[in-house]
Amino acid sequence: MRTRFAPSPTGMLHIGGLRTALYAYLIAKQTDGTFILRIEDTDQVRTIDGAVENILRTLHWAGLDPDEGVMMRDGLPTEEGAHGPYTQSQRFEIYTAHAKELIEKGHAYYAFDTKEDLDHMREAESAAGNAAPKYDSSVRMRMKNSLTLPEAEWKQKLEDNEPHVIRMLIPEGNVIRFQDEIRGKIEFKGMEVDDQILIKSDGFPTYHLANVVDDHLMDINMVIRGEEWLSSTPKHLLLFEYFGWPAPRYAHVPLLLNADRSKLSKRQNDVAAEDYIDKGYLPETLINFLVLLGWNPGDTKELFTMEELVETFSLERVQKGGAVFDPERLNWFQGQWMRNFSPEDFAARIQPLVAEVYPEASSDPQFAQRAGLIQDRITFFPEAPEMLSYYYSEPKADMELIASKKQKLDAKLAKEVIELLIEKLEPFNDWNEDALKEFLFALADEKELKKGQLLWPLRAILTGLPFSPGAFEVAAALGKEKTMQRLKKAV
Ligand code: GLU
Repeated sequence: MRTRFAPSPTGMLHIGGLRTALYAYLIAKQTDGTFILRIEDTDQVRTIDGAVENILRTLHWAGLDPDEGVMMRDGLPTEEGAHGPYTQSQRFEIYTAHAKELIEKGHAYYAFDTKEDLDHMREAESAAGNAAPKYDSSVRMRMKNSLTLPEAEWKQKLEDNEPHVIRMLIPEGNVIRFQDEIRGKIEFKGMEVDDQILIKSDGFPTYHLANVVDDHLMDINMVIRGEEWLSSTPKHLLLFEYFGWPAPRYAHVPLLLNADRSKLSKRQNDVAAEDYIDKGYLPETLINFLVLLGWNPGDTKELFTMEELVETFSLERVQKGGAVFDPERLNWFQGQWMRNFSPEDFAARIQPLVAEVYPEASSDPQFAQRAGLIQDRITFFPEAPEMLSYYYSEPKADMELIASKKQKLDAKLAKEVIELLIEKLEPFNDWNEDALKEFLFALADEKELKKGQLLWPLRAILTGLPFSPGAFEVAAALGKEKTMQRLKKAV
């Protein structure tokens, strides 16, 4: 399959756009096909500087680099492929030529109506009881266009550069049927639309014309796009028919929804893919989460690598209804992918971040061991420096933290426990996690203390943090000398 992602560069890549790109990418890869990136910038007013770079950077981060079309090379956007240019603003002559071809075939016409003409038509139609006046077959023959004006007159108007648009002729009572790859049989009866403008008065093409011409000229045979375009599809299919081209297959993917089932919005969720990158989500997390928003594998498997998705993804298993975006589930996936790194890989990834805050971490021979203790607790890499802070800086002994109500430990008992720990650990030399555990458990029994009453103050003193790996793990990773120093200081 030749699939394409065709974003408009009107802002940062939307999380829903990233999911559409992912689906299109997967279909291309599983068919040994081609994933194409086309930039749809026909609306120059809404085009934003830097948006193309943002789209490319985000796709690259997610592992969805295009095979053809607009792509990043050495940090700069460029184009590759035999069907270019792939940026619509560089293809305006192509669209004009195609609009003219439709005029010659009798499927489109020039229209010279002014704003006043159009307002007047709408008022007259409303007055006559038409609730939704349109520039369609019912009024077309009363307007100023190349179907109603004598040929010499409209040709003269063109020569005089009189403002005009090119409109597509939409037949009355038309029925369009097609098979959507996700939604099944779709039928649109009597298109309730204006004769669609194909070329605007400034000479720019509209989305509809450019989209269809490009999908054909770029040999796209599977269009995967958001549900919001479903209602445009009959117009597109009609254009394919008018040009005498075979239409591609279409798959309209369901909307992303907020928890209250309203359309995913900034007010309730981050919507730019970049927001998730900045927060420290892994590409694996976001891909895994997004693919399952609307698709299910048909069994209970939840974690998928990109390779596995290329194997198993299918449009038939994409749901028709909207997919609720659940940030908690996203975080669950993040946790899963964080645990999925090999311990060496995990340590290597966080070491530079920790060393930025604590330079000695870069040459710490125990770094891997220490990092290993936080791998099943961390959610985002940037949390690592704080989670490992107590190896590289002295935590302050915080009585609020040490004397814990939950552990039934007041200040007096806490002090006695710390003194006991100092006394008993001083002569203890088998300094590893298992031996410490055995020794301290036995000590708690002997002194009739709850385990927490002995271990909580030790852990709290060593780390200075409310949450951390357990007391034995930290004491072993920290070493005897530092452990004893901190206990003594705490007294
Ligand atoms: N430029 C459209 C968008 O931004 C593309 C729609 C399509 O894929 O046909 O979503």
